[in-house]
Amino acid sequence: MKQLDQIHTFAKQLGLSNLANHTFELLPEAISNEEFLIRCLKDEIAYREDRAKQRRIKQAQLPAIKTFEAFDTTAQNGITDWQLRQLAALNWIDGIFNVIFIGPPGTGKTHLALAVANKALENGYKVFFASMDILVHILKTQEISRNSAARLKWIRECQLLVIDEMGYLPVSKVEANLFFQLISTLYENTSVVITSNKGFDGWADIIGDPVLTTALLDRLTHRCQVLSFSGEGWRVAHREVIFDESNLNKN
Ligand code: ADP
Ligand code: MG
Repeated sequence: MKQLDQIHTFAKQLGLSNLANHTFELLPEAISNEEFLIRCLKDEIAYREDRAKQRRIKQAQLPAIKTFEAFDTTAQNGITDWQLRQLAALNWIDGIFNVIFIGPPGTGKTHLALAVANKALENGYKVFFASMDILVHILKTQEISRNSAARLKWIRECQLLVIDEMGYLPVSKVEANLFFQLISTLYENTSVVITSNKGFDGWADIIGDPVLTTALLDRLTHRCQVLSFSGEGWRVAHREVIFDESNLNKN
């Protein structure tokens, strides 16, 4: 009977409504076949879950894989070990909080944004990752590009949107309005992670309109953790060179 219960549950999960409705009528025939059927249904569930995960990974468009484990908090004052663990726990996504990383180039903002996105994908969340200029391009071409329209539809379904490199390129008035509309739509539904080389004081210059910037920041920072990074940057401190004088003695 326990096994028939299991068959019933699996059939429901897979949307096999006929089998789900008639599971218990199968009792006489089931006795010898139930193990086999359970195995088949478990296989089907695992297969579908894996396919859904692969689809989510493809849709998310992560440009690289970075992990929390590879992030060295001793190299960065902007985040403590405890904060890193909170960030990696991801329950702020369920609470629909935003995270904004601010700091100069090379300080690990994109690394952590990617680590968040990667772990969220692993944990079953729907994610989209894009640089600000790609996102703006998607917004601008939504009416004329089926690809952009599909991306936007996905973004609206996502639990997490990561916007990388806000502030490197200024946006036009039209673009700023489209961006504001998107953030307004996502407000209180989707967690947004943003990396920026500019502090909030500089955002009016990026957006080009102080009133719109205030309204945007109002929505973004309502439930938000801001992490400010500093320092010369990991790339500078860990620069690798082709012509390394310490190798000279070896030859
Ligand atoms: P940003 O986005 O702030 O410009 P990145 O995240 O792209 O910087 O970091 C530049 C490079 O340095 C990346 O390869 C990243 O993995 C590495 N990096 C930066 N900070 C750290 C850190 N604290 N621990 C480990 N790697 C780091
Ligand atoms: Mg970056």
